[in-house]
Amino acid sequence: MKKIYVSADPVQCGWLESLLQASNIECLVRNRFLGGAIGELPINEAWPEIWVVNDNDEARAESVIADALAPLLVTEDWRCAGCQEWVEGQFGSCWQCGHVRESNPAA
Ligand SMILES: [Zn+2]
Repeated sequence: MKKIYVSADPVQCGWLESLLQASNIECLVRNRFLGGAIGELPINEAWPEIWVVNDNDEARAESVIADALAPLLVTEDWRCAGCQEWVEGQFGSCWQCGHVRESNPAA
């Protein structure tokens, strides 16, 4: 059993789970229904987690997830940490202040 992905979004986790299953990778989601506990638990302990059952599937599962998320990462708008301006996803730095996009701009 290996944890391969954590997301704040249970819908996204369910979507990734179905993609993994479609690739014949046995997996499960933990914390899927704990959303209501956020605020009582440390936030990252309440997030849904995707686990692969067989360690041998880990690399394949990670590539399925990376392929699935790549287009989203490119197109999702992000908020500049320098000036708080919203920037379109295809840009790697802020149009207003030039701040370079950070790896997890949504956090
Ligand atoms: Zn900026």
